[in-house]
Amino acid sequence: MNTKETQRLVTKAQQLCEQRGARLTPARREVFEILAAESGAVGAYDLLDKLKAAVPNAKPPTIYRALDFLQEQGFVHKITSSNSYVLCSHFDHHHPVQMLICERCGSVQEIQSDGVYNALLKQAEDQGFHVESQTIEAHGTCSNCRAA
Ligand SMILES: [Zn+2]
Ligand SMILES: [Zn+2]
Repeated sequence: MNTKETQRLVTKAQQLCEQRGARLTPARREVFEILAAESGAVGAYDLLDKLKAAVPNAKPPTIYRALDFLQEQGFVHKITSSNSYVLCSHFDHHHPVQMLICERCGSVQEIQSDGVYNALLKQAEDQGFHVESQTIEAHGTCSNCRAA
């Protein structure tokens, strides 16, 4: 993502935080900016290394607290299978999360399919299971890598 786009996202996140009475502290903002500049998912320790460039005394709890906050606000999704984090591409509303993860280049694309969401919800309900959130991770090869 280019710098202008990153700036636009940061401004949007800041406005949402103000509306919600949440505080986008400098460390949280920095982590947000790092993720906004990446096209793929970033592991917590890589994030910490990058964060140290701006916040030299950053420690693992700094990054985990920032990531918890960003996830609560819906700005960031955690990719459980690789223990990494990616910026949400439409973070102004809560939504089911479906991610296409490229195994070659690490890019992550978010899709939103109500069909997938509803099918899973229905099957879960048939089992008497109440779903609170859904995160679906699909692994494969992205169009760029397939064309290469
Ligand atoms: Zn999202
Ligand atoms: Zn790829």
